[in-house]
Amino acid sequence: MDNRPIHILLVEDEPSLRDNVIIALESEAMRVSWAGTGMEADLLIASEKIDLVLLDVGLPDTNGFELCRSWRMKQVKLPILFLTARSSEVDRVVGLEIGGDDYLVKPFSLREMVARIRAVLRRAPMAVEKANDEAAANGVSGLVVDDVRMCVLIDGHGMELTRYEFRLMRLFLKNPSRVYSRGQLMDHVWEEPDSALERTVDAHIKQLRAKLREHGKSEEMIRTHRGLGYSFDPQS
Ligand code: CA
Repeated sequence: MDNRPIHILLVEDEPSLRDNVIIALESEAMRVSWAGTGMEADLLIASEKIDLVLLDVGLPDTNGFELCRSWRMKQVKLPILFLTARSSEVDRVVGLEIGGDDYLVKPFSLREMVARIRAVLRRAPMAVEKANDEAAANGVSGLVVDDVRMCVLIDGHGMELTRYEFRLMRLFLKNPSRVYSRGQLMDHVWEEPDSALERTVDAHIKQLRAKLREHGKSEEMIRTHRGLGYSFDPQS
């Protein structure tokens, strides 16, 4: 761990909130870069070494969910803590992204904000994900995601998957043992989650299990957590 200060990217268009957040973080010896639009945030993400993003949901040129989604598609793995104006958005926030993320509902206390930031950084999702990525890349359990060819290899053999099956497998393999609810899987995998049905997820899971079995793997690799959802367990 180097000694450079924690570098936070604050994406927030409201000047008074921005100023208060910057003062609070700087008093914690953190460094803050600020963006008032999604476009500015994109530029900073690409050019700066950022440790965590505080991301407002309502931005002038985009919204935080879309921005987050686009970064994840580009394999940006920074912890992202959403700042949401309405608690009704919280379900979407929670369902939206991978482990380590959190959210604050406005108005929030600056003290709580700092505590959440420290908690998210302590959980070090980047380290966990890196380990998971390496495990997947090294073919633990014989399954490897090939992002370039958009396919999954089982013991070196390509698995024939539909688009959504591939996206499900990719998510599972990148985050082994993590339990996803059906709603979370829809948010991650389906382009229009609102129009998909939860039983669509079940149908795809069933297909994936059948394909795992065809390739000599245990279908128990995809575990059902009753009342919760599914996880991928490479040890099964
Ligand atoms: Ca805003």
